[in-house]
Amino acid sequence: MATIELTEVAKRFGKTTAVDGVTASIGNGEFFVILGPSGAGKTTTLKSIAGLVDVDGGSVRIGGVDMTLAEPYHRNVAMAFESYALYPQKTVSENLASPLRSGRTGTYSRQEQEERIRQVTTTLGIEHLLRRFPRELSNGQRQRVALGRVLVRPADVYLLDEPLSHLDAKLRAEMRAELRQLGAVSDTTTVYVTHDYQEALSLGDRIAVMRDGRFVHVGTPEEVWHRPADTFVARSLGQPEMNLVDAVVGAGRISFGRAGATVPTPAGLRAEPGRPVRLGLRPCDLHVDTDDADAGIPATITQIERLGRDVELAVDVGGVELIVLASARRGLAEGDRVALTVAATDVHVFEAGDGDTPRLEQAGRTEEESR
Ligand code: ATP
Repeated sequence: MATIELTEVAKRFGKTTAVDGVTASIGNGEFFVILGPSGAGKTTTLKSIAGLVDVDGGSVRIGGVDMTLAEPYHRNVAMAFESYALYPQKTVSENLASPLRSGRTGTYSRQEQEERIRQVTTTLGIEHLLRRFPRELSNGQRQRVALGRVLVRPADVYLLDEPLSHLDAKLRAEMRAELRQLGAVSDTTTVYVTHDYQEALSLGDRIAVMRDGRFVHVGTPEEVWHRPADTFVARSLGQPEMNLVDAVVGAGRISFGRAGATVPTPAGLRAEPGRPVRLGLRPCDLHVDTDDADAGIPATITQIERLGRDVELAVDVGGVELIVLASARRGLAEGDRVALTVAATDVHVFEAGDGDTPRLEQAGRTEEESR
């Protein structure tokens, strides 16, 4: 276990700035997730910690020791890549055992080796594959064995780069649940890269949302979900994405659309009446009421996409389109007039403007509200 201190870490490749001044303090034993779109600089940040790229600026400290210029070998970090590095001529069992037999990890009794391999193979669901060769495995199985090869070896830090990307949705969800339970992972400082927001929310003690080489918001899953620092962070979490609409602050309500639809103002919003803002409403936080169409924001359903248990609705509110998630059991149809309601605690307010804009200052939610 070790802390990781990243201070203004920067890395350029020619004219491309991959990492642009990343600063973060990762605690002992923390599970820290980096979430961001393709090209944001996630892998390069991991490689900077591992020492697999030479940084152009800033420093990397591991366990309180400046490792900025240290060779990867001296950092005692274990890194799993999205692509799987396995010895083709060795069985799965031999592939898993080899990191424990290399001199630098110390000596392990046969019993300790077997126990670590047993834990990792059970967690990853690969016990039945031990006698196979890599060529006899599916991509998803190979990826799990490669992850096993990393986790079987004790290290100060695990760096995991999209280690579940080749698994189908069901297996990914199972692995997510199992991974955090694995003793090695829960005891070891882990930095985990993903572009899957659900994975980030379910795995991370904290999440760093990354854009254009920078961490734009670092916080607990509750913080980044309930109080996203800007519209980019808000859009990065949730599917379908948060609705963002131009609106105006009024007395106690915020209005939008031609027909003057309103939503309640979140507690503690520091914005004077008349101020233009961008209103953020998650599709899952908008509730559809058909019985009493006067009880909320009047809306007309223009399109319905069936997603199984849920339906994704496009609704028109005075010329503004909103996306809403509703239960498929409601039997909603295109052309239906409905009323939408939203709790004040689920209303997000950002500065007006084009591109990504910051959240307007708002009092924090109480713990009770967040539950
Ligand atoms: P992905 O999710 O697609 O893996 P990422 O967030 O991990 O993306 P990086 O792989 O860190 O992003 O890449 C960040 C930027 O740096 C990209 O624009 C990429 O093209 C560039 N880059 C990364 N490695 C190199 C390299 N070895 N040479 C040149 N450019 C590179």
